[in-house]
Amino acid sequence: MVPFYRIACVPGIGSSGRALYGGGKATKHLPSSLPELPVCSGMPIPQAYRNLRAHGLLQAWVMALAAGGMLALLPAAMASVPLPRPRPAEVPAVAPEAAPQVGDEKKSAPAEPATPEVSACRKSLTDDIAIAPSIAPIRDASGCGGEDLVRLEAVVLRDGRRVGLKPAATLRCEMARAVADWIREDASPLAQSLGSELDALDNFDSYSCRGRNRVKGAKLSEHGKANALDVRSLDLADGRKLSLTDRALAPEVREKVLWSVCTRFTTVLGPGSDWYHEDHIHLDIAQRRNNYKLCQWNIYEPLPATPPFLPAERPSDAPAPATSEPSKGEAGAAAGKAE
Ligand SMILES: [Zn+2]
Repeated sequence: MVPFYRIACVPGIGSSGRALYGGGKATKHLPSSLPELPVCSGMPIPQAYRNLRAHGLLQAWVMALAAGGMLALLPAAMASVPLPRPRPAEVPAVAPEAAPQVGDEKKSAPAEPATPEVSACRKSLTDDIAIAPSIAPIRDASGCGGEDLVRLEAVVLRDGRRVGLKPAATLRCEMARAVADWIREDASPLAQSLGSELDALDNFDSYSCRGRNRVKGAKLSEHGKANALDVRSLDLADGRKLSLTDRALAPEVREKVLWSVCTRFTTVLGPGSDWYHEDHIHLDIAQRRNNYKLCQWNIYEPLPATPPFLPAERPSDAPAPATSEPSKGEAGAAAGKAE
């Protein structure tokens, strides 16, 4: 009978433990001591086997065999474990993260400033509504300026025609939007009701870094925040000019404009508000507590064609008015009497 381990005429005990004890009629019984390995097929006895036998390291021997067995079972076990799907080709490779180093935060370059978010107003103020390109924020050391600014060049009416602002106004987007809505929805229909079309808006002032009413040291004007517009007139396509503070302009027209702007803007200042607004109408959208609005614009009656304090011209055939002045005769008589 051939000893079961005789089939293990292979070199390397540690790596071929299963071959030694797993094949043929190999018994499950482990020898208490390692048997003499027969020399077969002219192969040398592995030195490791000699060492094991010489030192009686049976425990190591068994562990080696067990490890060998587990390794052999590994392929089968791996086949049953679900593996992640292969990485798609189009997914960019993940750059290996460098281990953070002490002092990295000091060496790292300053972060790029974040791109300012586009405001909801800016998104809504499209070319269909106004020609109003964005301009850079103004940050004046005195406190003037603002963010989300535009240069309002023209308002686009529903039929595509443009009403120019002359000159173009520098405004915050919200104010520009309010002006555009006013022109599209109120001012343009008013011009049509007068038998013409609105052609332009006379811009007297928009952004200006100054105190209220141009008074030095006064509280910052809404003009300094790019939040206000001064209007002198609405110019019609037929050449007429609706000068808003002109008494010669029909009061009904001025009243319509007054009601319109006082509904849409939070501040309206015109003739009668103070001495600074006799020749233009100030509009802004300043926010106040409880949404308080300021609407100060007196619609003066037109001046009479003939000033009442001047007397009518005296007809040439009218009798001479009686006066208290003595006539020459009376004067001479009086003088004679006096003399
Ligand atoms: Zn003003």
